[in-house]
Amino acid sequence: MSPEKLFRIVILGGGTAGWMTANLMAHRWRDKPVEIIVVESPDIGIIGVGEGSTPQLREFFAKLDIAENEWMPCCSATYKNGISFYGWTECPGFEHYFHPFPTVLDDHTVPFFYFHTRARRTGRNVHAHPDRFFLPAALARQRLGPKPDKNFPFDVAYGYHFDAHLVGIFLQKHATQKLNVTHLQYTITHVNKNANGEISSLTTSDDQSIEGDFFIDSSGFRSALLQQALEEPFLSFKDNLFNDSAVAMPTTCDDDVILCETRAVALTNGWAWKIPLTNRTGNGYVYSSDFISDDAAETELRTHLGLLDSDVPARRLKMNVGQVSRHWVKNCLAVGLAQGFIEPLEATALHIVQTTVEMFMAAFEDGEFTNTKAVPFNEAIAARFNGIRDYIVCHYRMNGRKDTDYWRANAVNQNLSHSLKSIMSCWFTGGDLVAEIEGQNIGQYYAPLSWHCLLAGYGIFPEDDKLQPPEAGLDIANMQKIDTFIDSCALNFESHDKMLSRLK
Ligand SMILES: Cc1cc2nc3c(=O)[nH]c(=O)nc-3n(C[C@H](O)[C@H](O)[C@H](O)COP(=O)(O)OP(=O)(O)OC[C@H]3O[C@@H](n4cnc5c(N)ncnc54)[C@H](O)[C@@H]3O)c2cc1C
Repeated sequence: MSPEKLFRIVILGGGTAGWMTANLMAHRWRDKPVEIIVVESPDIGIIGVGEGSTPQLREFFAKLDIAENEWMPCCSATYKNGISFYGWTECPGFEHYFHPFPTVLDDHTVPFFYFHTRARRTGRNVHAHPDRFFLPAALARQRLGPKPDKNFPFDVAYGYHFDAHLVGIFLQKHATQKLNVTHLQYTITHVNKNANGEISSLTTSDDQSIEGDFFIDSSGFRSALLQQALEEPFLSFKDNLFNDSAVAMPTTCDDDVILCETRAVALTNGWAWKIPLTNRTGNGYVYSSDFISDDAAETELRTHLGLLDSDVPARRLKMNVGQVSRHWVKNCLAVGLAQGFIEPLEATALHIVQTTVEMFMAAFEDGEFTNTKAVPFNEAIAARFNGIRDYIVCHYRMNGRKDTDYWRANAVNQNLSHSLKSIMSCWFTGGDLVAEIEGQNIGQYYAPLSWHCLLAGYGIFPEDDKLQPPEAGLDIANMQKIDTFIDSCALNFESHDKMLSRLK
């Protein structure tokens, strides 16, 4: 379905969210009478963090027909096999675990992993740490990139790490040079509405007017259109996600071979990310200001990085964790930080940007470029936010640290959704977690594999000294055979560094 006359979409914000939206819309509607304008303030910077992705970003670039060798080298990008969690529990043997992206080869090992975790939950002494069951964990450990030799005909899911500023510049160039998107640099000082309360135009600081038929609010945490001008309420997740602050500090690359995983290391009052790029390492500490001061958090991060006496500058950030009540209101859609944020653990923000825009475009076409499909769209996006949030909350709720008030408060937090309570109850009563996730229809947010890895990765099983040997006839895997299978698969992958150098 096409609009009948020229339809102008004004995107406020030139951060990653604004430019991803501009590219997706301009590409999908390239043969329709749709004009796209991005307005970005020359004075208000972008947030400039947000450097890890999920595998969905591959589809984003594929859809735009942009090859990895076009964008990755100019964005200092690396491959990401998954995320390693370090120090989230004191449980011996579970000091760290790896969260892989689901991949077709898992079919050979996942049935054993599920079986083992359930047997272990019901008191059998079997191996149930996730890492030995997944190829991406082995690839990350051996610093092998995720793209196999062409004789190995299986695709492995992977994401990326990249420099957020450079990705913004790349996407801006692509949108303006290849997709006819107009880029304006003005600070918006006023939002004008018509008699129906819809946005009619934006007024710039030098009193110019930018008119549009539809407006995208990608103005970051400010949410100048949806939350400020249209006064859509913000629903905070503060009662189950305590972190509201971050301090970021890049360092030079310190590894001989570049890591191909994100690291999430638990500190005293939150966690530190380590994101490897080709020219530097992104680091930051995400914490709760209710439990640690900004100064103390910066000192702790510097100590963690071995930079206590260094003058490497640090950036301090505040985060609004939660989501808007409705993401699409009248003729305005919020995308990116303006629509909400579920803190950076698991790096889901750009994934949500992409999904929001894809789902919006389908709903908008379906409603013939009107807002008649806004209600089901808003319900679906809100459910997605809640589904992803529950998985992140589960990390904190299941932590096994007892060293600070922060971790103890997280471990006893009772502000959990019904959905998460049912997942936990299923796990602790030895139930079928796959059936539980399918029954709740939440596998589209996090797959059963991810839930099993998280819960098993923190070693939450009956005490070791109470475990019984497995009974005869139980379908227990030969772990050595699984190791051999994974190791022989891994032989088909080359070093991450080599894979990156091939892109240049
Ligand atoms: C600590 C931290 C870590 C994160 N890590 C990850 C991660 O690993 N992976 C991930 O996917 N995401 C991550 N995110 C989220 C990610 O950074 C954002 O989702 C992403 O950068 C998109 O931001 P944005 O475009 O919505 O907002 P911004 O980057 O803040 O852009 C806002 C834009 O709006 C413009 N603007 C604002 N007001 C006006 C105005 N009045 N007039 C004109 N222009 C205006 C600004 O000029 C700017 O261009 C992280 C976020 C934080 C806080």
